[in-house]
Amino acid sequence: MCASAVGDTIGHFTMGCIVTTRLPILFLAVNLLLGPAIAAAPQVDVTYGPLPVFELHSGFWINLHHRLYEEARQRRNAEPVGTPKSGKTGKPTLQIAPDSKIVLSSSEQHAWENAISYYAANYANKDLLFNTELLLLKNQLGDFETCDELSGAKKKSCDAGLPANLTQILEGAAPVYRAHRWPADDRANRAWIKRVAPLVREQGVGLSHRLADIYQTRWPVEKIRVDVSAVANAAGAYTTLDPLRVTIASTDPRNQGASALEVLFHEASHGIAEPVEQAIVRECRQRDKPIPRDLWHALIFYTTGEVIKPVMEEESDTPENSAAQNGAKAGNSSSIGAGEGNSRYPQDSEYTPYAKREGLYQRGWENYLSLLNRYWQPYLQGRSTFDDAIARMVSAL
Ligand SMILES: [Zn+2]
Repeated sequence: MCASAVGDTIGHFTMGCIVTTRLPILFLAVNLLLGPAIAAAPQVDVTYGPLPVFELHSGFWINLHHRLYEEARQRRNAEPVGTPKSGKTGKPTLQIAPDSKIVLSSSEQHAWENAISYYAANYANKDLLFNTELLLLKNQLGDFETCDELSGAKKKSCDAGLPANLTQILEGAAPVYRAHRWPADDRANRAWIKRVAPLVREQGVGLSHRLADIYQTRWPVEKIRVDVSAVANAAGAYTTLDPLRVTIASTDPRNQGASALEVLFHEASHGIAEPVEQAIVRECRQRDKPIPRDLWHALIFYTTGEVIKPVMEEESDTPENSAAQNGAKAGNSSSIGAGEGNSRYPQDSEYTPYAKREGLYQRGWENYLSLLNRYWQPYLQGRSTFDDAIARMVSAL
């Protein structure tokens, strides 16, 4: 359903899609036995303890994984077509410390280079969202975030059961990342979490109920795990199912400021909006119409934006929040390119939803926007039923 969006114009500009997979994979077998014992994590509890609805993590391995993936992809993209793959012409990128004068020792450089080469050869051509191996690896690295190794050599419960060469690559790159880049990445993740936490605490339960009602389903009973990573995929966030887990890039300009809450709930909506997709498919079949690509995705963008808008406008009217925004604008933006993010705070109380601000509707979804305004908006306002709204949208296609 989402696959068609990847690689096209819309795909580059939208937040993540969902993936459903129930395929077993060999390396996970070991961990079915070990997993629960080490499931506790560097979950970031901000100020007053755990948040409702979401469980926010800043985990070492998952951050390393995404950094390696990103650097390997950049290397792949930088290679001109027809470049020999001997590697002899490839210069070490040292992107691990792009903004600093840190020089890696030759052994550090070797370990990092090995890891990038491994990721370039094995993962750079695969999609973080749609490739089963990558999404299972991501989940596994999340589960082992409290471990400082993955082989279990020092601690049996830290045997992540990954293939031996991958374990070796990751454990080799880990000290380099830990020494030169992880502290800044972790700070950026925690700063992002700290900024969004008050909104989640105040509004999270209400928003989750509202969205579940709209989609005529139940919000998951368990808190949704969110892995906050300095970088993620090209979309800046993605969501995988079974188990439902969200990954959000803390340094992505699209995810900053007031947008952070919307990104969280948009991504979580991927896990609960199945009734919408089913209803669209059903109505299309009844009318012998082709199933419109991405209408469901435009619908969840639209819905999250509409539900978040009044909440954000109310928030921006409160005196404490104005003070906080001014502080954020003036203050310390050392961590994550927060300057750019903060400029996305509206000056007045008008909140612009993500899809509108990022121009998604102008990139092939114009027709969807007018359908949503005409037939879905009345449902959101209580003037139509779910079934009627979907039926009318599909009729008008
Ligand atoms: Zn999405």
